[in-house]
Amino acid sequence: MDIFYSKFQTYIDTLDIKKPNKYTIKNDIYLNILNVLKANYTDKSAKFKFWVRQTFRLVQIGSTDLVYVIKNDLLLVTHEQIYYRVVDCHVAVGQSGRDKTWAEIKRLYAGIPHQAVSIYINMCDTCQIRRSFPTPISGKPIVSIGFLTRL
Ligand SMILES: [Zn+2]
Repeated sequence: MDIFYSKFQTYIDTLDIKKPNKYTIKNDIYLNILNVLKANYTDKSAKFKFWVRQTFRLVQIGSTDLVYVIKNDLLLVTHEQIYYRVVDCHVAVGQSGRDKTWAEIKRLYAGIPHQAVSIYINMCDTCQIRRSFPTPISGKPIVSIGFLTRL
C-alpha cells in the first residue's frame, strides 16, 4: 500500500493542475465537506461552502454519513480509501485488466482517478505472476517424422 501511495503521489505531483487538493479528496477535506453538508460549524470560506453544496450531497444510511457526488450520483472515495476500493474492484472483476477494473470503479465510485487503477494493476502480485507464466500455446508439438525415423 505504501508503494502504491508513493507512486500515486509522484504522479499527482507531475500534474499541472490548479487545485491538486481537489484532484483527490483527502480525509481532512472530506471532514470539512461533511461539516458543510451537515450544516455544522466550520471556519471554511463561503467559496468552499458554495463548492461543496454545488458538488456533493449527504446520504445518511442508519447512523453512517456518506458523501455522494451530485453529477454522477456516486459515492465519494477519499484519497486514503482509493487503494482499498481499487483492490476490491480489481478482485471483483476476477483480476481482469485495467479497462474492466476501471469500468467497475466508474460504476460504483467517484473520486478515483484512472491513473490509480493503472498504478495498482502494474504492481498487483497476482497479475504479475500471471504475466511471467503465460498459458502455454495449445496443440501438440510439431515433430518431424523424418527426424524420428533417423533414430
Ligand atoms: Zn491483479
